[in-house]
Amino acid sequence: MLVVKIGGAAGNNMDTVCEDLAELVKKGRPAVLVHGGSEETNAVSEQLGHPPKFITSPSGFTSRFTDRETLEIFAMVTSGKINTLLVERLQQLGLNAFGLSGVDGRLMQAKRKEAVRSVENGRVRVLHGDHTGMIQTVDAALLNMLLSAGFTPVVAPLAVSTEGVALNVDADRAAAMIAGALKAESLVILTNVAGLMRRFPDESTLIAKIERAGLEDALQSAEGRMKKKVLGASEALGEGVGQVIFADSRVPAPITSALEGKGTVIT
Ligand code: ADP
Repeated sequence: MLVVKIGGAAGNNMDTVCEDLAELVKKGRPAVLVHGGSEETNAVSEQLGHPPKFITSPSGFTSRFTDRETLEIFAMVTSGKINTLLVERLQQLGLNAFGLSGVDGRLMQAKRKEAVRSVENGRVRVLHGDHTGMIQTVDAALLNMLLSAGFTPVVAPLAVSTEGVALNVDADRAAAMIAGALKAESLVILTNVAGLMRRFPDESTLIAKIERAGLEDALQSAEGRMKKKVLGASEALGEGVGQVIFADSRVPAPITSALEGKGTVIT
């Protein structure tokens, strides 16, 4: 079992990722594709006159503040556009891809963080009305049902709260939870850099291998959203995933190359 996550940031090559995924699945390797979409959500939010708002938690993590309108834009961009276009591309490549978000069939249930803490000008403020969540359960049976029927699931990063409210979730953490629920052999997190660098953006400082015990140290090197990928890797390994690989989506056959060990391999 293989779980692949593709980022939405500029420079990511969706086309080669889809081609490589289609090849691997056709060779008999079951896979689930998880995608993000934050960059495009930002752009569409600007276009719709509802610019994105970012907050930094007291522990230093940056995330989007998702009011209801932002959640609807996020759903429109990720489930509506990105998911459909990935499924379309995979269908063109002969793969019977099946798009869904974590809301569908309650695939991903999350605990809503309605109130979030934000550090602004050195002071901590509590903001209400956020539509984000921490994934608590992934319905592996639903994914296995699709997989055994010959579909390749393509998952958009939305979850549903216990109250039935749709929530924006971090796509890296979603991929980690999905990989964990499926007890995947490998989780490949593709992005627009070669892997985790000790001193970003110096590529000569690429970290080729990390043991789980060294993740705490690796977290120090990661900045911004890279921190969430490192956290996700740690969660996935904790859930029994064999290996997590951070690799470059811009190279030919990016998934195969990652599985061959190019990038940052975390075991
Ligand atoms: P995606 O949209 O593909 O999920 P993100 O933009 O969230 O990707 O995260 C990848 C980015 O993390 C890289 O483009 C890079 O700018 C940044 N980054 C921060 N720290 C590091 C690091 N130590 N090594 C590699 N990339 C890093």
